[in-house]
Amino acid sequence: MSAPNLELENTAKAYDGLRVLHDVSFAVSPGEVVALVGHNGAGKTTIMKLLLGLIRPTSGSVQVLGHDPAGSNAAQARLGMGFLPETVSFPANMTGREIMNFYARLKRQVRGDNDRLLETVGLADASDRRVKTYSKGMRQRLGLAQALIGSPRVLLLDEPTTGLDPTLRRSFYDTIMSLKDEGVTVLLASHALSEMESRVDRIAIMSKGRLMADGSMTDLRKKAQLPARIRLTTDDGAAGRAAEHLQGADIRHVNGRTVEFDCASENKMELVRRVTDIGVTIEDMEIELPNLDRIYELYQDNGEASS
Ligand code: ADP
Repeated sequence: MSAPNLELENTAKAYDGLRVLHDVSFAVSPGEVVALVGHNGAGKTTIMKLLLGLIRPTSGSVQVLGHDPAGSNAAQARLGMGFLPETVSFPANMTGREIMNFYARLKRQVRGDNDRLLETVGLADASDRRVKTYSKGMRQRLGLAQALIGSPRVLLLDEPTTGLDPTLRRSFYDTIMSLKDEGVTVLLASHALSEMESRVDRIAIMSKGRLMADGSMTDLRKKAQLPARIRLTTDDGAAGRAAEHLQGADIRHVNGRTVEFDCASENKMELVRRVTDIGVTIEDMEIELPNLDRIYELYQDNGEASS
């Protein structure tokens, strides 16, 4: 496994003695896309600020591209990083192209790449229009283009899809996926749980300054131990017989042809096999695995899921 592009190790942050981040450890490798989720005040922005080197940890360490972003080699880390803040504000009278040129100069990059970046975010046709004529979604995309200047190896995105319609959201994630394929590390803080669960490699769930869980959806489901919901459609009249053989499952509903039950995800195939073993034909099967919303709520409510 390659060295992580960003890493927090037992990182804590306190303001006036009050801890807002408690010993958080997590790392993101090249080519990984990780979502940071949590209620307001959970500590997401604090993590972003630590990675950007805007604040220092009270204890523990922070590394970006092998450097302390608030240390003497901070420039090495910052030059390799792109950042999209939650609220993007650009001078209203400047055009998209002028703004890109301005940021390219700040980042000591050539302007030549800006046309390609504006094209990538779908703003090529609007590049000579003033930003005050842009919609919120267009400003957000200009923010993303700005974050991509200088081909960063680490991209930090705070609520990147706010204000984007479904088509633009899809094209946003397409852009993220092609960056991932190029080995870029992407950390995105977001509340948009349902759109992320199928699109990111890992999800880090924060609550009250603590990292409650960190893993793929499969890992999180296993750890949360929330049941899967299964709905079987059988041959006529066989649902009752099927239900009798589903000991251990929580039967929700039975009528002539269908039986619906909850069970631990890892037991679902065994239970279905029991039904086929007694000669019941399964004509259809729907499986509803616990989604990120349900897993997320579990950590916000209970603090800790059983492991
Ligand atoms: P999130 O981004 O998840 O909404 P934050 O990281 O912004 O959460 O905030 C985490 C906690 O730290 C909150 O309780 C917030 O009030 C507190 N906090 C953030 N910045 C400061 C600061 N400069 N001084 C004191 N407390 C702060």
